[in-house]
Amino acid sequence: MNSQPLVCPGCGVRHSPDERFCRACGMPLVYSESLGVDEPVTDRQERARKIKPQYAEGALVRVAGAQNQAEAEFIQGMLLEEGVPSTLQRTRGFDVPDMLAAGPRDIMVPQSGHSAAREVLLEAELVSDEQPVLTSPSRVLAWLLVAFAVVALIAWLGTDVLG
Ligand SMILES: [Zn+2]
Repeated sequence: MNSQPLVCPGCGVRHSPDERFCRACGMPLVYSESLGVDEPVTDRQERARKIKPQYAEGALVRVAGAQNQAEAEFIQGMLLEEGVPSTLQRTRGFDVPDMLAAGPRDIMVPQSGHSAAREVLLEAELVSDEQPVLTSPSRVLAWLLVAFAVVALIAWLGTDVLG
């Protein structure tokens, strides 16, 4: 059995030897040794050292948006300083060819790192204090109104029958 730690070549997150793909970004994992122990410390290894494992678990969720690649990488750097790994995705609905650095990006972080990441970004005033629209309040309200309407109808029918 190989006891070498597995590491993601994309985001630097370490994984146990029974994993094959990065849980954070889906890249095939490599043995950390094959990244080159004798070589000088690379940015990638530097990143891997900063990432806190407790922030690298769960599915990717969007934590913020950036106007372009440069801004997105700036935000990634800030998150990394707090130990939160992140990946970038092109914001859907913008027709910009892939080779261009222009176009908005979504910054995605693992679920377990989401609240830490938001704290960092809130402090830096890079995101507003709005709640993520995972469950739309208006939809919940709509269902409540439907429920009330049904209860009211039953009550009305009940009094009609009794009266
Ligand atoms: Zn990864």
